[in-house]
Amino acid sequence: MEGKPVADRIQQELAEEIRSLHQHGVFPRLEVILVGENPASKVYVGMKQKACEKVGIRSNTTNLAQNTSEDELYALIERFNQDHSVHGILVQLPLPPQISEKRIIESVSPLKDVDGFHPINRGKLAAGEDTFIPCTPAGMQELLRAYQINPAGRHVVVVGRSGIVGMPFAIMMMQKKSWANATVTVCHTGSGDLKPYTRQADILVAAAGHPRTITAEMVKPGAVILDVGVNRVDDPTASRGYRLVGDVDFEGVKDVASAITPVPGGIGPMTIAMLLKNTVTSANKFCKL
Ligand code: NAP
Repeated sequence: MEGKPVADRIQQELAEEIRSLHQHGVFPRLEVILVGENPASKVYVGMKQKACEKVGIRSNTTNLAQNTSEDELYALIERFNQDHSVHGILVQLPLPPQISEKRIIESVSPLKDVDGFHPINRGKLAAGEDTFIPCTPAGMQELLRAYQINPAGRHVVVVGRSGIVGMPFAIMMMQKKSWANATVTVCHTGSGDLKPYTRQADILVAAAGHPRTITAEMVKPGAVILDVGVNRVDDPTASRGYRLVGDVDFEGVKDVASAITPVPGGIGPMTIAMLLKNTVTSANKFCKL
């Protein structure tokens, strides 16, 4: 299940919608804040910025120094909260240790929280209300829809319970809604042996952040695999000295599964497409206020 072509189609649709918003004097705008020099964060922010430009979202990245104080960052977010031309605010995580991620996430206006990390939006998601859904689980659901794999009535097993991937996806999948309504099991480091759980999965999600968390013998024949993990492994033959792999042993599992997402090119592009979508949704809401 390639994510790239699906993400490209979504971006084309968004570009059309954005052109029409422009004609009505609405210019969707995303403010991205990057603190420090984390190389992976820089790559992610660059990809987001490029995608915004491609579809016509006005996007600006503010690069703050590694030693930025929490109050300075808070003040910048507050400025964007008050600015009516800003529809989305994204603070790239992780933040340096002197800054409380909790306080910063809570300082972004829930109305501009296009990452869907604010506790109000997380609460709304859990309550089944309309809200910003975190981009990665939103992209995973969208990918299932694109490949016509309906989770309804199936057993979804999620390995990983983080607030940005595993937990929101599990919540989404158990809801009595379309492209959901599944039976859900969530595994984590307290689960012990994963195999008895993963072998039951019709749809298996790997979001643990470790290569080879899922190997062929852990997969039920015919299962659908969503590999969310992005891990750097040393590879002297690669020009950068490393390559990216998921949490699933792709080579072993691809012959057992009926469908599997690649890394890279699977969930990653969908995550970015959902960020753009959330920003356009926000712009639409603001122009109706
Ligand atoms: P995280 O915050 O580190 O959470 C990892 C989760 O996996 C935790 O709940 C942890 O359990 C669980 N876990 C770790 N090792 C495990 C094991 N051996 N067995 C069972 N459970 C295990 O990570 P995250 O932010 O959710 O990200 C997960 C992966 O997805 C990372 O590789 C990340 O880079 C990638 N990611 C990709 C995208 C994308 O767009 N493609 C977006 C976000 C994240 P505990 O709760 O018990 O610690």
